Amino acid sequence: MNIERNRRGFLKKLVALGGVLGLSPFAINRMLGSEIARSEVDMGGDIATMEATMVSTWNHGMVANKAGFGALLNGGSSLDMIEAAARIVEADAEGLSVGIGGLPDRDGVVTLDACCMDHKGRAGSVACLEDIMYPLSVARKVMEETPHVMLVGDGARTFAIDQGFVPTNLLTEKAREAWIKWMETHDYKPVINIENHDTIGMLALDNEGRLSGGCTTSGVSFKMHGRVGDSPIIGAGLFVDGNVGAATATGLGEAVMRTVGSFLVVELMRGGMHPQAACEAAVKRIIDSMDVSELQVGYLALDKQGRYGAHAIHGGFNFALTTANSSDLIDASHG
Ligand code: ASP
Repeated sequence: MNIERNRRGFLKKLVALGGVLGLSPFAINRMLGSEIARSEVDMGGDIATMEATMVSTWNHGMVANKAGFGALLNGGSSLDMIEAAARIVEADAEGLSVGIGGLPDRDGVVTLDACCMDHKGRAGSVACLEDIMYPLSVARKVMEETPHVMLVGDGARTFAIDQGFVPTNLLTEKAREAWIKWMETHDYKPVINIENHDTIGMLALDNEGRLSGGCTTSGVSFKMHGRVGDSPIIGAGLFVDGNVGAATATGLGEAVMRTVGSFLVVELMRGGMHPQAACEAAVKRIIDSMDVSELQVGYLALDKQGRYGAHAIHGGFNFALTTANSSDLIDASHG
């Protein structure tokens, strides 16, 4: 009790001292964040880093974060970090789950979903987008150039072309072969299993304390034509509140949508939870509400103080954590 009172006294003095020294509210906030984080044990995320931080899902998060920090070094904002990170993965024709090269739907058509959100709560999204290589950039255009949040299908494609995006065949030979093989062995039913998800969800905090996020995917492979998952749905695959934190999801979108997962994670952080605890609670919400034996979902979160967390239903989910000093691929907790 006394320790707690002393700590609070220390924090108050820190705020006052920060004001005297002319520190920005952000700098003070980060200092408080580190103090708060230090008081939490066994809670996943690190103490506040006082520097830009980026977390992204899966192995491809490593190259994505590198591109994100490249954008930051060029003077970009956290939203620029997100867009640069997305583009590097979307343009990789070898990747079977994002952008060009993504596995098609059960009719052999590649349809892409993506969204982004910035620290002001502005959001843009595209779903079931065909023939366009950079869906997250199109989502950003929806956010910045239209009064809308979401465009889908032909409307999204036409908008993208109007904005200067070049139509491109997204079905690579490798993806087409996988689709043909799938049709033979899977009797034309969409596959929903725990290995079949590799959306990239990205969360970035820049040196000015601005949080942004993005999510981009070709969705569940061999899905029904027209199926849209959680990834482009604000609140499901991604949610950012610039004053609180950000969260993103990967895995079976239907489970995330039914529990409005990323919004839930951010709301739990708003209530004071550490990002790790918030991810665990959102995963538990899914486990408590449906049979999860055949499905995987993972959440990744980053709060305004730079603390992070990640948790999944099953093992195997990992994420990249990058700051100015280090970049690591970390296995998320699960269960
Ligand atoms: N969440 C994505 C979807 O359901 C899939 C994934 O994470 O790979 O479309």
